[in-house]
Amino acid sequence: MFALSDVSIDRLRRTLGNTGQRRAYFVWRNGQLQCSNPQLDTWSQHLAEHRRDFDAHEAVFLEFGQRSGSLLGVFLHRTIRGQGAGGVRRWGYDNLGDFLSDGLRLSRGMGRKNALAGLWWGGGKGLIAQDNLQATADGRRDVYLDYGDFISSLGGIYVTAKDVGTGNEDMAQIFSRTRHTTCVAPEVGGSGNPSGATAKGVVCAMEAAVSILYGQSLGGMSVCMQGTGNVGAAMIRDLLERQVETITAFEISSSLQQELSLAFASDPIDIRLVSATDDTCYRMACDIFVPNALGGILGPDTIPKLNTRLVCGAANNQLLDPERDSRSLRARNIDLVPDFLANRMGIVNCANEQYGWLPEDPAIERHFDSAWEGSIPNVTREVFELAKRKGVTTTSAANRLADERAQQPHPIWGHRTATLIDRLMTANWQRG
Ligand code: NAD
Repeated sequence: MFALSDVSIDRLRRTLGNTGQRRAYFVWRNGQLQCSNPQLDTWSQHLAEHRRDFDAHEAVFLEFGQRSGSLLGVFLHRTIRGQGAGGVRRWGYDNLGDFLSDGLRLSRGMGRKNALAGLWWGGGKGLIAQDNLQATADGRRDVYLDYGDFISSLGGIYVTAKDVGTGNEDMAQIFSRTRHTTCVAPEVGGSGNPSGATAKGVVCAMEAAVSILYGQSLGGMSVCMQGTGNVGAAMIRDLLERQVETITAFEISSSLQQELSLAFASDPIDIRLVSATDDTCYRMACDIFVPNALGGILGPDTIPKLNTRLVCGAANNQLLDPERDSRSLRARNIDLVPDFLANRMGIVNCANEQYGWLPEDPAIERHFDSAWEGSIPNVTREVFELAKRKGVTTTSAANRLADERAQQPHPIWGHRTATLIDRLMTANWQRG
């Protein structure tokens, strides 16, 4: 039985190469899947295998980079509110099935995050498959120059940003080849690292949740944090300002653990160095568990170990299976603020960067302030109230609100991305 998980990325490269091409697309129109290359027709039928990951996706565009030979992808989910937007992830994928599955899942997550944050953007995600993640500086530069060219060729259907595996220097390479990017360096007019804003947004969601659910403030609470990188370190400062009672943080990087332990030596915080497989942080008794490292950490192996009241953190896709695992959390009386609600400020920061930069920008600050109906505290309240009223998990409630909002057309441009995709198809983009 043939499955896309049996198809290597090299096989896709060879199949396209036999027809003299480096590009392919899959576009969904009126329930039909259209594929650019007849040679891939049988493969496209197998996209149905990814039914679980599918939900109102509009297109997948693929290219093998001219300089690097790496597989590059753009995934679009519901672009009614505007161009697909979300970061570009560079990762070592074992097969085409994993690559497609990750892109479909992540672009759907971005569609929901953007809609719930009130951004006039649709769901988008970029992927780069790279076997050798430790590539030389030149090799890495070529990958991101290719990615910039790839986005330019797509004529504005997707706006990229930073994600796992992509750094500031990589964003500069992308920016040198396309204008369809955010997370641009401050020296060239961008807003730089969004992690401080992300941390502030997560703490704001946490504060709203403990007030709505337990009628309490963060003062006096015990916090257990996994990961003290860009977001985690900024969040420690925000939590200390809120006078939490204790923070126990777990970090796998010894240099970071030492640096932060020194920086916070006089604060009520214990930063422990652990191995990636250590499970102490799940077992730790605390009021709030804060996942700030990687996604996919909460599932059947870890949820039974949790000893907390609330989960709220920055990591994307914290639940291995969102529906199943949010039900397991509820069954254990553990409340959850969905990650895409709490961690919106990274992408908000990127979206707003396109409209100029202001210190204490009101367009950023309104997300923390209950005066605006779409703010983090107000949407957190809406999600908890809807979940209670309908007897569903907070994940279902947040998805429902996000999916409704994702249907609102952009007030000026309508569903222009669909027209842009049509143009790429009629212009035989795949032959370029
Ligand atoms: P980062 O890479 O700077 O920090 C992650 C930290 O987690 C690293 O220090 C790493 O050593 C540590 N870590 C990894 N595995 C661990 C483990 N098993 N136990 C303990 N520590 C572990 O990333 P970041 O920018 O701080 O982002 C954190 C998470 O938030 C990521 O999942 C990211 O996708 C998500 N996120 C970040 C932003 C942002 O603005 N940076 C926005 C939205 C979502």
